[in-house]
Amino acid sequence: MPPKPASSSVPVVKISRRGAKRLQEGHVWVYRSDIVSADGVGPGTAVGVTDERGKFLGTALYSSASQIAVRMISTRAANDLQTLLRERIQAAVGYREKVVSDTDACRVVFSEADFLPGLIVDRHNDLLSMQILTQAMDADPVRQIIVSELSQQLKPAAIIERVDPRIRELEQLPARPSGSIQGDKASTVFTMNQVRFHFEGLEGQKTGSFLDQRENYAAAARYAHGEALDVFCYQGGFALHIAQACARVTGVDSSRPALEMAERNAALNGREIEWVEANAFDLLRDYAEAGRRYDTIVLDPPAFAKSKSHLETALHGYKELNLRALKMLRPGGILVTCCCSYHVSPVQYLDVVRVAARDVHRNLRVAENRGQARDHPILLNVPETEYLKCIIAYVCD
Ligand code: SAH
Repeated sequence: MPPKPASSSVPVVKISRRGAKRLQEGHVWVYRSDIVSADGVGPGTAVGVTDERGKFLGTALYSSASQIAVRMISTRAANDLQTLLRERIQAAVGYREKVVSDTDACRVVFSEADFLPGLIVDRHNDLLSMQILTQAMDADPVRQIIVSELSQQLKPAAIIERVDPRIRELEQLPARPSGSIQGDKASTVFTMNQVRFHFEGLEGQKTGSFLDQRENYAAAARYAHGEALDVFCYQGGFALHIAQACARVTGVDSSRPALEMAERNAALNGREIEWVEANAFDLLRDYAEAGRRYDTIVLDPPAFAKSKSHLETALHGYKELNLRALKMLRPGGILVTCCCSYHVSPVQYLDVVRVAARDVHRNLRVAENRGQARDHPILLNVPETEYLKCIIAYVCD
């Protein structure tokens, strides 16, 4: 059956042959350079998308500012955006019910990967935090639908909006502060893998915690032993998980507020962990020179490659970290090494670790080659949705 044409009430964006090919291959983005015409299309509106000959390709959300001008939300004509958004949110919640267990915290909506481009929603126990990344998701009627459907589905005590001012600027959206959208509650305690964490909805980095590592925390805890070092520990995600299995754990981070929260989290779980405020690169060098040795080292640095142009420097940084950690691991020790730069592929990261091990003459046996938790789904046709690498390896010699 031929696809239904877009309704005449929906504005139409015409895209180039290259743009159409990308969509036919399953991607959901059309770059501005592939827009042939977008006459009279306002910022953040729902549009029908056609190829140059006028063949209907689907429904999308339009941005007048982003280089990603069009983000597809359906291959069909979706004249009722409200119903579509509600269905998408219901589906996102339903998917988490299937794949998430042993926690009251997870990512509920992951933008493109849930066919809701520009919307991220995280749940920490009874608090929801949402982040809006595009003009279309920022429109008042759309916000109202999102908040109403999330409330109905999940009955949170409060919904908090976390604003990234840089993204709003890029999308040419007026500045607005982070804050409560519904309800007063802004802090709570959540549990994952039986470890408890404080959550402050209006503080912390990104959406406040690193839910994408949830399954990797549990995996790391299965291998961790002896004396452990958690480098780039933030609020103690890995440190607190591996503490169950280790004789001693030290967490390192350059952020004092993160370490203060880490200490509160340790107290909440009745754990004693040493927290060190330091630059990880310097500390690893100093500890290695001082002859310190560990049985378990976790490396979970921030994204070094924020764009493709930083790739070489980033790879160098990752290698350097792994090299320094490998020097300090005892035979039989465990390296848990993570990389959250999308621009570094899983194969490339494995190679970084391989070369680092070779340079320090250590033999590594990979126990697990992991990625992001299942509540951060990967859409195979949208490679940008896959970003986290987590390798767990034994030092054999
Ligand atoms: N492992 C953490 C997440 C780490 S996020 C978790 O599972 O929750 C990256 C962390 O690296 C942040 O907390 C940031 O403060 C810290 N950081 C960034 N640059 C650093 C540096 N040069 N030295 C030490 N920590 C650094």
